[in-house]
Amino acid sequence: MYRENVQPVEENIRAAVNAAGRKREEVCLIAVSKTKPLEAVLEAYGEGQRDFGENKAQEMTAKKELAPADIRWHFIGNLQKNKVKYVVGNACLIHSVSSLELAAEIERIAEKKNVIQPVLVEVNIAEEATKQGLAREDALELVKAIAGLPRLKLMGLMAIAPPVEEAEENRRYFREMRQLLQEINREGLYPVPLTELSMGMSGDYPVAIEEGATFVRIGTALFGARNYNIPVNE
Ligand SMILES: *Cc1c(COP(=O)(O)O)cnc(C)c1O
Repeated sequence: MYRENVQPVEENIRAAVNAAGRKREEVCLIAVSKTKPLEAVLEAYGEGQRDFGENKAQEMTAKKELAPADIRWHFIGNLQKNKVKYVVGNACLIHSVSSLELAAEIERIAEKKNVIQPVLVEVNIAEEATKQGLAREDALELVKAIAGLPRLKLMGLMAIAPPVEEAEENRRYFREMRQLLQEINREGLYPVPLTELSMGMSGDYPVAIEEGATFVRIGTALFGARNYNIPVNE
């Protein structure tokens, strides 16, 4: 299934980078394997896929233990403070830092494990009350605060755009994300320039790439629909 599914996704990615005058290597495809069994990960791995996304701490570490060691695991879910210990040092990138308390806990655990943890700040770009992530101004404040946490390596921003019928409807949000990243860099809110934008899912990734995404997080288009009725160990 993965082999058939990844082909059109890869074609769409290439079309989008070409349309934007970008290079394929500038965009990392994260295969979002949450709720899917290890076999799905291994099948994708066999096709050359190395970046996988999970949104539950213990599901990620359980798969990581059994999967090939050269897989890069991205943590993309809402991270509770008591789960930070599972994720720090195991995720190549935590996409979803959305409070100073969480950042401080990541700092504490990273210190304990003697690692540097790459992170993104999650922005609630559509300002949806129900969605995680920070409003623009709060995101800027958190970026400044993270500059004071030596164990965190801030790379950029992440957003989950709203579900829409037409991907085009989300273009303005993706554009706002790029502008926010530029603003952070222009104003020097972080000591080194931020380069990463994690945005775009199955329904809208070509538009996200045209607007500057460096990570797209794709689940359904690669692995098919998810069944949340199958219990997954948390
Ligand atoms: C599940 C999930 C995705 C993938 O969504 P699809 O629509 O299945 O591609 C991407 N990002 C986050 C944060 C997710 O939780």
